Amino acid sequence: MYPPRFDYHRATSLEEARSLLAEHADRDPRLLAGGHSLIPALKTDRTTADVLVDLGGIDDLEGVTTEPNETIVGALTTYADLLEASELAERHPVLTDALAEVGDLQVRNRGTLGGNLAQAEPAADLPAAVLAANATIVAHGSGGEREIRADEFFRGERETALETGEVLTRVRLPAAPASDADRTAGAYVRKTHPASGWASLGVAVVLECEGESVREARLAATGVTDRAIRLESVEDALAGEPLESATVAAAAERAAVGIEPDELRSDLHVSGEYRAGLVPVYVERALERAAKRIDASGNGGEPR
Ligand SMILES: Cc1cc2nc3c(=O)[nH]c(=O)nc-3n(C[C@H](O)[C@H](O)[C@H](O)COP(=O)(O)OP(=O)(O)OC[C@H]3O[C@@H](n4cnc5c(N)ncnc54)[C@H](O)[C@@H]3O)c2cc1C
Repeated sequence: MYPPRFDYHRATSLEEARSLLAEHADRDPRLLAGGHSLIPALKTDRTTADVLVDLGGIDDLEGVTTEPNETIVGALTTYADLLEASELAERHPVLTDALAEVGDLQVRNRGTLGGNLAQAEPAADLPAAVLAANATIVAHGSGGEREIRADEFFRGERETALETGEVLTRVRLPAAPASDADRTAGAYVRKTHPASGWASLGVAVVLECEGESVREARLAATGVTDRAIRLESVEDALAGEPLESATVAAAAERAAVGIEPDELRSDLHVSGEYRAGLVPVYVERALERAAKRIDASGNGGEPR
């Protein structure tokens, strides 16, 4: 299986990547990051490109920076490097849980955070995690830099808010204030399809607690519809409530509320109806895992 012929350029700066995209604008140019979605798509005729602009030489797009109020992740950082970043695991376990589920070692060594989000596969793990983390996605285009809330980034199956010629440069993850850090926890759980290794569905959660109650819960699911979505009915059911088993179970039961039957993803392996049945189960598991982490921090919060 061979890809079609294309011209290849390796950019060494963001400016060079942008100018290569502009120079070849009439030749269907595509950005190349880890290549683990783009190259197979080219080989199987699911996409076209006459020109590839490789971002791999742009060191500025790699790495994790920790600020007091946020963590900034360069778009080109690989899953493997992110999994080794201890500060990410401490501050954003929802993301490291999701990263640990992605593909296999080869995929994790090549695939990048930016590529995963820009690709916006309906069953990708990281979109749900960045939604629950309340992330901001930063893109660079002809109009300069712009920030896009994760809530507004995913538009549909392999469709995002990125405009032609824009490069996703980094992802900003807000950190819990130091005083709240031990009352905040996240988690991601998924049902892995045994044949494809992708998620049949995955649920990401970040819980922020005050005393024994939930101040804010953010939940997102992947695999259920054509894009990762927030589960607002569960979030509303938890806000202000005590973090107890009964509340968690009642909130989880509401997980499929608001998802219309014709929105449910259905494929050869997993029907939409089955996916809808799985959502409450995995919501409950994700909530329990996050609640246990809050409890492990020594300040209560375990479901009772
Ligand atoms: C065998 C296998 C198993 C996999 N399993 C999983 C899984 O379980 N979970 C999961 O989430 N994913 C999985 N993936 C997908 C994998 O995570 C891909 O690496 C990812 O979807 C794309 O990232 P990439 O860096 O390889 O991007 P590429 O393939 O290089 O690019 C993907 C798309 O994003 C665009 N793009 C890339 N970077 C940028 C940028 N900075 N700015 C703007 N556009 C950009 C490209 O132009 C292209 O359209 C799997 C892939 C394979 C091959």
